[in-house]
Parts: sequence; C-alpha cells; structure tokens
Amino acid sequence: MRSLWTDQAIADAAAPSAPLPHYGQLIDGVMVEGERRMPVLSPADAQPFATVPDASPEELSRAISAAQHAFGRWSETDFAARRQCLRRFADAMRHNIDEIAEALTREQGKPLSRSRREIANAAGAIESMIAIEVSPRLLRDDARERVELRYRPLGVAAGITAWNVPIMLAAQKIAQALYTGNTMVLKPSPYAPVATLLLGRLSIGLLPPGVLNIISGGNALGARLTSDPRISKISFTGSGPTGEAVLKAAAPHFARVTLELGGNDAAIVLPDVDPDAVVPEIFAAAFNNAGQICMAIKRLYVHADIYDAMVDRLADLAESVRLGDGMDPETDMGPVQNRAQFDKLLGLLADIRATPGARIAAGGEVPDRAGYFIRPTIVADVAEGTRIVDEEPFGPMLPVIRYDDVEDAIARANATPFGLSGSVWTSDLDRGAKLAGRLEVGTAWVNRHGGGDGAIPFGGAKASGIGREHGRLGLASYMEPQVLHVRK
Ligand code: NAD
Repeated sequence: MRSLWTDQAIADAAAPSAPLPHYGQLIDGVMVEGERRMPVLSPADAQPFATVPDASPEELSRAISAAQHAFGRWSETDFAARRQCLRRFADAMRHNIDEIAEALTREQGKPLSRSRREIANAAGAIESMIAIEVSPRLLRDDARERVELRYRPLGVAAGITAWNVPIMLAAQKIAQALYTGNTMVLKPSPYAPVATLLLGRLSIGLLPPGVLNIISGGNALGARLTSDPRISKISFTGSGPTGEAVLKAAAPHFARVTLELGGNDAAIVLPDVDPDAVVPEIFAAAFNNAGQICMAIKRLYVHADIYDAMVDRLADLAESVRLGDGMDPETDMGPVQNRAQFDKLLGLLADIRATPGARIAAGGEVPDRAGYFIRPTIVADVAEGTRIVDEEPFGPMLPVIRYDDVEDAIARANATPFGLSGSVWTSDLDRGAKLAGRLEVGTAWVNRHGGGDGAIPFGGAKASGIGREHGRLGLASYMEPQVLHVRK
C-alpha cells in the first residue's frame, strides 16, 4: 500500500493556511511541541484539523534516554505499586473520555459512540491486565536445592501502533510494558496520533517522568525507534511488510519482538443455523469500525442450503446502514480512515466488477462527497482466486463464499498465509468446537467472532504474527524468565 508518511511526503505536505490546534508529545514527563510539525487529516472531509510533532532524531533519542533513565527506579518498584499507578491512569481515561473520544472520531472516522466504547474498553483492558498476579514459580525444592522460575523486566520497550483502534492498542501496550516493570516509548500511527498523544498528557502526575514517553512522526521514526540498540523489546501492531522490517531492525540488538499483524479471517456457517439469528452478529463482526479490524470476518463461507437466505439478509442489513461523519449522532458507520486504504478498496471494487459471475448484492457505491466513504458491500458468488477473497481488504467489504462440504470449507479457510482468528457457526457446540480447533489460527471461536479481553491471550498464527499479547502469555512476553538455583 502506498504510504503518505515517508519523510519526503511529510516535508512536501502543504502548510495549512489557518492555524490548527497543535498536540505535543510526551518526553520525560513534559509535553514537548517538537521542532517539526505534520498535519493530521479528518477522513470525513480529507481536511487537516490538527498538527502534531514529527519527532526529530534528537527528540527520539531524548525520549529513549528518558525511558532508560527512568527504568532503574521503576523496575525496582513492586507489582502492587505499578498496579496502583496504572489503575489511576485507567480512571483518568474514563474521566477524560469526552475529549479523547472527540479526537479519536475526528482522526479515525468512527462514530463518537464507538470512540467512547473503545476508550472505556481500553480502560477495562488495563484493569484486566493488572489484575493478573505475577509471582515466581517453585520448580524444585528438595534436600539438595531450591529452583525458582522468576521474571525480570526487559528494559525500554518500544510500542508501535496502527490507525484502526489506536487507543485500544496503545492502552494494552502501555499496561503490559509498565506493569511488568519496563518503561516505554510509544509511537502511534501518523494517520491517527492525536488521541494517543492526549493519553500522554493525561499520564503526567500519574506516572513518574520518563516511564512513559509518547512521540509522533512518520514511518521513518518507527524505523529509527526499532533499530535503536537501547530498545530491549518491541511490541508492534500493523501490516505484515512493516512487521518484517521491524524483525530485521530488532535482530542486530536481539530486541524481543511481538508482532500483531494482518489477517484474512474466515467464518464458516453450517447449515444448521437460523440465518435470522446469526446474521446481525456476523454482520457486526465484519463491518464494525468500517471493517478496519484485524480480527474482522473477511471471508464468509456459507453452506449452499442457506446461502441465498444469508446473502439476502446480509444485503438488507448493509442497505440499512447510515453512512456518515462520525461526529453526527445519526451515523452508524464512518469513512475509511485514509486515502491509501480508500484507493486500495476502490481497486478491489474494480476487480470485483471485472470478475465474471461475481455479484455485488449490496453497496459497492462511493458517495459523491468529500472524505473516504464507501457503502458497506456484500459480494456474492465469488471464490478463491479473486483479490477480495485472497487479500485482506481492511474495509467495509465482505465476500460470501458458497460451500457444500464442511471438510472442503475448513481446507479452504486454512489455505491462506494468514492465521489470526476464525470461527464456526452451528447449533451443535461440540462439533463446532472440534471444527474450530482445526482452523490454523491463534484464536478460534464458536458462534461468535471478535472482541478482546485483556485477560485472554491474543495473537496470530502463520503470517498474522509472532507471540501473544494480553493475559499471562502477553505479560510474559515483556519479561525475561530467569531460573534461580539455590544449592543447600
Ligand atoms: P503499517 O504497518 O503501515 O503501520 C503500522 C505502524 O508502523 C505505524 O505506526 C507506522 O508509522 C509504523 N511503521 C511504518 N514503517 C515502519 C518501519 N519501517 N519500522 C517501524 N515502524 C514502522 O500498518 P497500518 O496500515 O497502520 O495498520 C493496518 C494493519 O494492521 C492491517 O494489516 C491490520 O490487520 C493490522 N492490525 C493488526 C492487529 C492485530 O492485533 N493483529 C490489530 C490492528 C491492526
């Protein structure tokens, strides 16, 4: 995907004519305006509405130094003290929900009610994570020796986030890194940095200076951050190609890496379900956040017996969606977040129209208005070998694929490089669990798809990622296991 956020593109961006509100970055406990600025566009009208810093190499270095300096004392505090700080931080998110939600809707496009839900859920995720007890495990205790498995923090963690659910991703990375005794330098996506920068301002007075630093900038800033030898851990959420670059950048200094990458999730609907009962949930799991969710349903396999009924009901729901500016309380679905993503989706639409037999059962239109709006689109009578099925669209488009034999559906669902999550929909729960367990994915659901929980590990198989975030596995990935032998 073409990115607007190369160093050159930022330098070329025309300076906005009217002064826009500027949001600073958090370095060593202080908000810093930054030497250089870059505009942030609202996807609802494609106009800049704010500016943020494009952090210079010197500002990045100061942020990492501050995190390194703060690590000494922070890593010596205990879990209870860190839990208390993070609980206050989660409370502050709730108290400031109006301001953060407005910024999130303006920069990301989602309806205001959805922004509020993301922030409330993010605060809840922090609380779920800090409720997990981390204690040493006794591996052996006999006449000769006592052996303990302990965990030590790693040092300075780098967090890099995508633009689709920036607050959820930021909160989860902050909570995991800080609770386990690390300090952090966090870089949000240049497409949607504002709400995350507000989190930085909010943390002042709640966290010791330097423990959390939040800086903004283009893709080159991400590359500089991940290749800095002072970084001990990288938690990255974004696309596969960038994930590969992050792995390479981490290799020379052996930084621990967690990669949360893209997906092309399949949902398999068995003929024993009632289409009326499952369609609303399946529709929401595909189109929430205008389809811009890593674990959205992106390929829907439906048994031939109920295929036409499912397509008709999905199409009816798609037609009923009120598309609009997320700031309008009447809006159900906002725009696609950015121009590059919008252009990619237009390319997919053109490809569908050129595919013999493919049928657009609903949507497919691009309203004639400013901003990046695409109506929710249901594509019927398509199969593997078309771009809409084989690629991750990451937008409001769902291909519905017919199958006759569930064994064939499972094989086709697995025939992809991706492996984030998947689901099986059936009234037979035991059979559903067996079938879902055969999906080559990090998370398999029966009769639901999507939704996160800070206490439950999440991550991808195959090209959808490396490692897990959330839950015990997530916390463990921010720590170095240490085995302590005491000879008696
Ligand atoms: P992206 O890879 O373009 O960018 C993600 C982040 O990486 C941004 O902050 C960007 O500035 C930064 N970056 C870019 N180049 C970099 C480099 N060389 N080194 C370090 N950082 C760099 O991804 P995106 O378009 O923002 O996000 C969309 C993708 O994210 C989709 O594929 C989606 O499925 C995936 N995603 C995955 C999860 C998950 O949990 N698995 C969650 C949300 C989104």
